[in-house]
Amino acid sequence: MQEFDVLIIGGGPIGIACGLEAKKKGFSYLIVEKGPIVNSLFNYPVNMQFFSSSERLEIDDIPFISKEAKPKRNEALEYYRRIVTSNQLNIHLFEKVLEVQRQPPLFVIKTDKGQYSAKNIIVATGFYDLPNKINVPGEDLPKVSHYYKDPHFYASQKLAVVGASNSAIDAALECWRKGSEVTLIIRGPEVGQRVKYWVRPDIINRIEEGSIKAYYNSNVKEIRPTELIIDTPKGEVTLENDFVLALTGYMPNFEFLEKLGIELSKDNKRLPNYNPETMETNIDGLFLAGVICGGMETHKWFIENSRIHAPIIMDAILKK
Ligand SMILES: Cc1cc2nc3c(=O)[nH]c(=O)nc-3n(C[C@H](O)[C@H](O)[C@H](O)COP(=O)(O)OP(=O)(O)OC[C@H]3O[C@@H](n4cnc5c(N)ncnc54)[C@H](O)[C@@H]3O)c2cc1C
Repeated sequence: MQEFDVLIIGGGPIGIACGLEAKKKGFSYLIVEKGPIVNSLFNYPVNMQFFSSSERLEIDDIPFISKEAKPKRNEALEYYRRIVTSNQLNIHLFEKVLEVQRQPPLFVIKTDKGQYSAKNIIVATGFYDLPNKINVPGEDLPKVSHYYKDPHFYASQKLAVVGASNSAIDAALECWRKGSEVTLIIRGPEVGQRVKYWVRPDIINRIEEGSIKAYYNSNVKEIRPTELIIDTPKGEVTLENDFVLALTGYMPNFEFLEKLGIELSKDNKRLPNYNPETMETNIDGLFLAGVICGGMETHKWFIENSRIHAPIIMDAILKK
């Protein structure tokens, strides 16, 4: 069984930052990623533009040059891919970590392709794998998706977008501009306050002029093959409907964290237990990095403010 100083679970931007930092410090390391390089970014909408400017997405001060100040998904794929390939990072792609066993002073990591041991583990698995379900009848119909990719698919179709934050608003605007008949179903009284400041006026104007229909304080009650039933303040409404994009956010894989033995707060934030000065969890040698740290508060951590986790963790391991 191959043994490493550090095994990193997840090859997103922060997992890659950790790999790079481990290499710089002279540790033996392996990144295990269940999909392609930066799998979450790969699965983002094709035309997605980051809200961060490119220098704020840089890792290890490696310059990120983009056409506009805020890069597009494709430019980010290029950036992180080049970091992995140019630095010849030790990464296994399309390999999923299934289980981690503690056999002090080591961990034994089982994947769907093999088994490794490591002195330290970094969990950098993000939150994009598990959507927040709306839990209504019909949610499993093939016309319903929790991930939005490309507006072309929805052209000339009656599309309901559920949600009021960045993902939902971007999808609603883009699909409307490509010829979908878009209805937004918003649980609260307004478009989310965290929607990108240059996008919010756009959606509000489209709603006010009637180009995009919005139901506020409303919830989906049932999804049927050609209809959508919603509860609105004026009573139940039945809409003709071809497709539903339920973009109501995502959450970390708490089951995976609990299986590793990481304690989670008992409130509904489900914050993992870690020391912010070292990023080490309640388990000796088991660290957290990236957006996974936020529990259900997925809006608190970004690449911008979590890229710092990589040097913090490597310094903590060095000091051990
Ligand atoms: C639509 C969208 C737009 C965003 N825009 C911005 C922005 O503009 N600026 C910003 O700073 N942040 C932004 N974020 C937030 C942040 O950039 C992303 O969540 C980012 O991908 C976080 O990096 P990460 O490495 O922590 O996690 P991820 O990038 O999610 O990486 C986790 C990786 O772990 C892998 N993985 C999971 N489980 C396993 C397993 N069991 N075995 C092996 N691999 C596994 C996944 O495949 C994934 O590749 C955005 C998020 C979303 C959803």
